[in-house]
Amino acid sequence: MSEVKAAGTDKASLPTADGRFGEFGGCYVPETLVTALKDLGEEYQRAKEDPEFQNDLAFQLKEFAGRPTGLYFAERLTEELGGAKIYFKREDLLHTGAHKINNALGQALLAKRMGKRRIIAETGAGQHGVATAAVCAKMGLECVVYMGAVDMERQKLNVFRMELCGAEVRGVDSGQKTLKDAVNEAMRDWVTNVRDTHYILGSALGAHPYPMMVRDFHKVIGQETRSQILEKEGRLPDEMVACVGGGSNAIGLFYEFLGEPDIRLVGVEAGGHGIVKGEHAARFEGGRLGVLQGCKTYILQDKDGQIELTHSISAGLDYAAIGPEHAYYRDIGRIDYGYATDDDVLEAFQLLCRVEGIIPALESTHALAYTIKRAPQMERNQIIVMNLSGRGDKDVNQVAKFLGQDV
Ligand SMILES: *Cc1c(COP(=O)(O)O)cnc(C)c1O
Repeated sequence: MSEVKAAGTDKASLPTADGRFGEFGGCYVPETLVTALKDLGEEYQRAKEDPEFQNDLAFQLKEFAGRPTGLYFAERLTEELGGAKIYFKREDLLHTGAHKINNALGQALLAKRMGKRRIIAETGAGQHGVATAAVCAKMGLECVVYMGAVDMERQKLNVFRMELCGAEVRGVDSGQKTLKDAVNEAMRDWVTNVRDTHYILGSALGAHPYPMMVRDFHKVIGQETRSQILEKEGRLPDEMVACVGGGSNAIGLFYEFLGEPDIRLVGVEAGGHGIVKGEHAARFEGGRLGVLQGCKTYILQDKDGQIELTHSISAGLDYAAIGPEHAYYRDIGRIDYGYATDDDVLEAFQLLCRVEGIIPALESTHALAYTIKRAPQMERNQIIVMNLSGRGDKDVNQVAKFLGQDV
């Protein structure tokens, strides 16, 4: 096992040149996109090694997005739970309210570099759409966001925020009218307009080079965390926790620490109403290997390969596939995965508001629910770092409804 682990955590080598993390990942797309993805991968490689691109990105992350984000000691929550010291990486304090802007900025700069003036994106809850719309407004790029009709109705405020930033939001009426269908539509647009259009995909998902590229744009989260925890505690944490939708905020935090075998890494999926077919979005609880929207990974599907319905209290975790890099690290045992149910999340949400004065995104609250259970099982001299991936302003109406309150 330790040999496998050592090989698997040789992170510099992953993914392979054809985009594989072990048997996961790859590039399963229509022929018309093969060249576009190859060009994108090559341009990204050049940008990555170009100090001017990296400096530009670092500058925008600081000035526009608000990096570095703090590493915050949750003193009252730690006292309340009576176990390990709990720290939050405060991605919730970024511009537009979540980690998503790290990736949106990186990809928009890349699009400009490639001379593409038109941006398309998909969005579920709207957070990635809002981040992309804001970045496009800032950079003077045209922006079209695909969003399922059901999600548009659920997240009206985010639709309006995107429109305020000058984006066109196109409703998608096919399928379940949610995220998966929006991705299909965005890919269709890209096939047609690939010459002048860049597709800013919102998570560590899809065909190569997206999972790698999105990860790289978020790994600043873990890099900052390393120096911040060393400054505050003089050592690295014992455990790190993040919620996993497609997996971008989690891999952004974890990547820096994959080669630290003493740190336990835990991803938390959406357990919804519990692990019953159609009632959750925990891909590692009942998902099977398959191909969805460009990559091979764990997918919630029936025996005929039809994608199963998913459910989560948080739209941002409500997706049938998980990023291929997570599938790989789960298989080799480097990252552990658990899940939190909607009920766990509602309780954790209220506790954090009450004892710390922080209103977390429902997505991030999945990681919090796990942390709340885990911390008391650990010693007081141990340390947990949790990624607080976003703020909960977008979710307060929904929480009020669940609690039977009229706001
Ligand atoms: C979109 C979102 C997520 C889920 O996406 P990942 O790619 O898994 O990070 C998590 N938290 C917040 C706040 C989000 O907006």
